[in-house]
Amino acid sequence: MTDRPAAGGIVLRDLVKSYGDSPRPAVDLPELAIPPGSFTVVVGPSGCGKSTALRLIAGLETPDTGHIAIDGVEVTDLLPGRRDLSMVFQDFALYPHMTVAENVGFGLRMRARHDRRRGLAARLVPGGRDRAGTPTAASRAEIAESVRRACALVRLDGKEHRRPSQLSGGERQRVALARALVRGPSVLLLDEPLSALDAQLRQHARAELVRLHREFGCTAVLVTHDQLEALSMATHLVVLDAGRLSQAGSPQEVYSRPANTFVAGFLGSPAMNLQPVERTGTRPDAATGPALHAPGLRARLPCLKDPLPEGALLLGWRPADGVLDPTPGEGRTGTEVDEPEHRADGLVLDGVVDIVEYTGDGRVVTCRGAVDGGSSWAVTVPAEGPFRAAGDRIRVRVSAERLHLFGPDGRRLDTDPAPPGGGIAARSRLGRAVRA
Ligand code: ADP
Repeated sequence: MTDRPAAGGIVLRDLVKSYGDSPRPAVDLPELAIPPGSFTVVVGPSGCGKSTALRLIAGLETPDTGHIAIDGVEVTDLLPGRRDLSMVFQDFALYPHMTVAENVGFGLRMRARHDRRRGLAARLVPGGRDRAGTPTAASRAEIAESVRRACALVRLDGKEHRRPSQLSGGERQRVALARALVRGPSVLLLDEPLSALDAQLRQHARAELVRLHREFGCTAVLVTHDQLEALSMATHLVVLDAGRLSQAGSPQEVYSRPANTFVAGFLGSPAMNLQPVERTGTRPDAATGPALHAPGLRARLPCLKDPLPEGALLLGWRPADGVLDPTPGEGRTGTEVDEPEHRADGLVLDGVVDIVEYTGDGRVVTCRGAVDGGSSWAVTVPAEGPFRAAGDRIRVRVSAERLHLFGPDGRRLDTDPAPPGGGIAARSRLGRAVRA
């Protein structure tokens, strides 16, 4: 194994893969670039095409059309073994009758045997890379050294002689990783590698994987349906929806500026509130920005471009961005509340507490609209704050820069110019929105 820098990354172009008579392709990616050296996480709900995309990169599936390049080399027609990549599967796929060391070294031994049959003296140097010049087959000692280094990298030294049945779930996962890394691939593909681990182990394994990637320096692509896992591990995030790219960018970009309602609703727990709103008045107001309303809700968005598109609008805000207003109606019950008056920027919203969920460091308060026709929403409040009980009336405010507005086609309505921060007012470069 070596710490060689990756160059070029992975580029998918016009890649389409369909199965049987399914009405839509499992994967339909006009263009997707995975940056070299990144830890890219492909995330999306079950069935959105994550594993198919990974298997296409690995060469385990053949695309209907399109191209795949790795580090600048077209690999679309190459066999998996010729693509300079390794893959870790969900079930780890270890040989139960082999020791840790035998499992880790299996690929190297097979390759050396193959090379000797082809008449090569030794193909691999101890670092696991091809030697410049005439290729040579690896000796037993060289393979043993590569295995030792791989086991040490995943902290399995001292356990090389155990069989998989004598290891914990986390250790088995690390054997699978060592087996993938021992060949020094320029690309590491990971198909839900943490899903077989229990919750506590998974958190530890996430941190280990990130550390390994940093030390190893290859391009890693991990697929998961777990949005928290995706946000916490990725240096580059790719969100798929029904086989297509919904948004790609840094986790911070994608989380703070979701390109459409799918991404907005998929990333974050509790999920972003998405509330139908209408424009207040008809005249564009360049000075104060458009005003919006819904039953029990008023909002003003100074940073938003006016005029807004015709049709249904959805106002988004994250439960953690809501600030409880202590003044009006505190502790009062009932649903007959005044429309919140609203002259300042941002959102003010009235609701009646429905469900309170304690999460340890806070409470998730789910409310129904305080007036007829109002939609339900959730806000997170500190655990130590005043207790909210079902039936209490509360008012929440959200600052303008924490609001997100989506048009009738589900796409984010953008702003220009805008001050720094999150939400609508964010100035940060938008994660590439390909599809609403
Ligand atoms: P994900 O990994 O996001 O859960 P997959 O890539 O496994 O999704 O599957 C995407 C779609 O392709 C799904 O509708 C799935 O049923 C279908 N699919 C995947 N593999 C096959 C296969 N070998 N044969 C038929 N359909 C498949």
